[in-house]
Amino acid sequence: MNKNLSKKLFVISGSSGVGKGTVLKGFLKKHPEFMLSISCTTRKPRVGEVDGVNYFFMTKDEFQTCIDNNKFLEWAEFAGNFYGTKKKYIQKCLEEGKDIILEIETKGALQVKKQMPESVLIFIAPPSIEALESRLRGRHTEDEETIQRRLHEVKEELRLAQQYDYKVINDNLEDAITQLEKIISGEQEKC
Ligand code: 5GP
Repeated sequence: MNKNLSKKLFVISGSSGVGKGTVLKGFLKKHPEFMLSISCTTRKPRVGEVDGVNYFFMTKDEFQTCIDNNKFLEWAEFAGNFYGTKKKYIQKCLEEGKDIILEIETKGALQVKKQMPESVLIFIAPPSIEALESRLRGRHTEDEETIQRRLHEVKEELRLAQQYDYKVINDNLEDAITQLEKIISGEQEKC
């Protein structure tokens, strides 16, 4: 992609289980010039996760202090933990001329759009609710209550995704990566 084009903030969301992480990883492998933003979180690091690489891990008190001091561009609670993007971090990356991608959930993404209307929101969606349901059932790992909760969450996210600029259907990984590339290069050419 053309390196001389203006920098934009791209925000990517999608329900877990639809392969959002795999699509993004595939895109970043082809386009290492893009920087994936590092968020702050109160959740505990998973095995192999490193502070300052995967997330900036914080206590709830530290996170609350950042909220009180208006340090976040956006923040949200997700599955009992807090997640947020620091304003200063994004400003610094944009000033340094970096292409940034934020991989965050829907409520936070819509806050970014409100504060930075020039940002581009992209939602990675399952081919259909039915396909997702049969995938969840086929795994035989979740009980009925969990399946119903997951489906409810996905429907709610798809409702919020109507406010996004673009939707990428992840039916086939390579096609989804190509769609993402087209959207991003098309947006950069608009600058
Ligand atoms: P995980 O705990 O699996 O790493 O992430 C859980 C969810 O939090 C994912 O949907 C991820 O996109 C979202 N997330 C990660 N960082 C942020 C952030 O800075 N802000 C918001 N709003 N969501 C985030």
